[in-house]
Parts: sequence; structure tokens; C-alpha cells
Amino acid sequence: MRTARAAVLAAPGRPAELREFPVPAPGPGEILLETLASEVCGTDVHLRDGRLAGVPYPIIPGHVSVGRVVEANGVARDAVGNPLAPGSVVSFFDVHATCHSCYQCLVARQPNRCPSRRVYGITYSAADGLLGGWADNILLLPGVRTVVLPEQLSVEDLIGGGCGLFTGFAAVDRAEIRLGDSVVVQGVGPVGLAAIAFARTSGAGTIVAVGEPAARRDLALRMGADETLALADARTEERAERVRAATGGRGADLVIEASGNPRAVPEGFAMLRDGGRYVIVGHYTDAGTVPVNPHVDINRKHAEVRGQWGSEFHHWTRALDTLLRYRERIPFAAVIGRRYCLEEANQALDDVEALRVTKAIIVP
Ligand SMILES: [Zn+2]
Ligand SMILES: [Zn+2]
Repeated sequence: MRTARAAVLAAPGRPAELREFPVPAPGPGEILLETLASEVCGTDVHLRDGRLAGVPYPIIPGHVSVGRVVEANGVARDAVGNPLAPGSVVSFFDVHATCHSCYQCLVARQPNRCPSRRVYGITYSAADGLLGGWADNILLLPGVRTVVLPEQLSVEDLIGGGCGLFTGFAAVDRAEIRLGDSVVVQGVGPVGLAAIAFARTSGAGTIVAVGEPAARRDLALRMGADETLALADARTEERAERVRAATGGRGADLVIEASGNPRAVPEGFAMLRDGGRYVIVGHYTDAGTVPVNPHVDINRKHAEVRGQWGSEFHHWTRALDTLLRYRERIPFAAVIGRRYCLEEANQALDDVEALRVTKAIIVP
């Protein structure tokens, strides 16, 4: 039987190790992919360190990936109706098994909070098979939502954004930007960069990006930010003052937090205008608590605060359509810092953790 190599996180706190898995013949409704690229994101660093609850180690990480169809058993179209066949280059929505019959799915209509949902590369065990992207092959189970990449979009266009592309899109959707709205984006990693790009294509007015390091601030400008603020050489009050100066003294209409640092939150409130909207999307893991003044920050400010948990499939298709239309202005391929083979998975994780690269990708 043919085998595939995969980089496996065997237990929390242990480095990734290479293992071999049998490559299954896809069953009815299943698709076997040859992996072209998978991403390494901050979540994968948290997975190695054991900072996410309920992860069934050992796992094959890699939630957002692109692959070439090797065999599709009884599947001839992608999730939006495009023809799909052996040789097609596809990506797929990493969230799977949403039930469409629970309270969250049916009544609250927020399937991103469905308790049944599983996520490739995070909530599947390596014992379940090739259900993560850091492997030569990926098996798509029945019902996994695929998207055939349009010819004009490269693998790099998509994977350079990775999951951040879709999370950033979802955050902008959640922010309900109006034409001309001023926007602050806190954090200039992949989620923040995508939020900047999609805020710009949504017709935002002034966009101010806040974060480190300098190389990422340069990317923020390329994605459409008007101004960037560093963390290192100024204090919170000085940065808030800069935002007020850029917004007629009022503060930003919208603030999107994509930093993952709890200390960004009080600063975000300080940058928000009265009656503004604050979207918090950067805290995929629990990084701790921080003081917020309910009177000053929320009640008197008449502020609106929204969380955004992950993304839904409609964010995927719409993000890719937008990326296709504006790809000259959304240079995600340029965000890729380095390509790593499977044997270099730990180097990739180290480089992401130390912010040496903005987006690391695994190319088996
Ligand atoms: Zn459900
Ligand atoms: Zn991710």
C-alpha cells in the first residue's frame, strides 16, 4: 500500500515528528488530494504548546491547505457547482461536520458555534487518518466544502493569506463597514493584513494599522493602510492621540482587534469614537484578562462590541471572489516569508512564533 508522510504533533509541548500513514482509496463522497501547500499559523504554535483545549493528540496540523485532486469518488463538482475532476486544484473549508440541526445552527443561525463542528488539522486525531495539511496527501471526507481555484488565482495568492484571509474577511463583514468609515486595525499578522485589505476594498476611509514588526507594517501599507503605528516607540495614549488626529479628533468609526494580545483591547476602546463599533477577532486562544472600564469604555461611549469566531463557508467563497477581482491590490503571495518541507515543520513553527516570517507555508 502507498504511504504518505506527515508532520505530527504527538503531544502538547513536543516538537513535530515525521510519521508515515497509509494512503486510503477514497470512499463514496470522499476526495483524495495531493498537497500543494498548507499554512503554518499562530494557532499551530499554540497547538504545539498545548494552549488549545480538547485537541485529540496526536494530530496532523494544517487547517487551510491547497491540493490537487488525485481521485474523487462520486464527486464531480465543488461546493458552488464548478466542475471538479482529477487534476483540479482545490482548497476546502477546514470546518467540517457542522450539523445544521442544533440550536446554534438552526435558531441562532451561527453555525460557527455549532458544537458538532470539526476542524481539519485541529480537532481530528492522526488516528482518524490524513485529516491535516502537513502531509503528502489529504483525505476530504464526505461533505467537506471544496472550492476549485479559478485559473487566475495562484496557490500562493490563497495560502499566503491562509486562514487569516477568511478570518479577516469575516471580521470586516462583522464590522459592517460603511463607505468612508475610518478604521483602526490592531495587529498586522495575516488576520490583520486581510482585515486591512478587505476594509479597503469595502470602501473604508482612513485606515490606521497598529503592530509589529516593521516588515509587517510595510505589508499593511501595501494592503491599503494609510498610516501605521508601532508599538515599540510610543505609549497607548500617544497612539490613541494619533488615531484621533487622523479622524478629526473623534476616534475611529470602527476598530478591529486582530492582535491576540489582551492589552490591545483597552487601547482599542481608547481609539474608538463615541458610538463606534469594536470587533474582536484576534483571541482564538485564551491569552488572559485585562481591565476594561464599563462606564468610560462602553456605556458612556455608547460603544458596540462584537466578537467574531472563525469564519463560515460564505466568507470563503466571497473572500476568494474578492481576492480574484482585486488580486493586484491584495498581494498575499508577497506575505509568504518562507517555504518549508515537512522535515522543517519545527523550524516553521519557531519562525512563526518569533515573528521572523509573517506567513510560513509547508510544501511537502
Ligand atoms: Zn449545529
Ligand atoms: Zn490558522
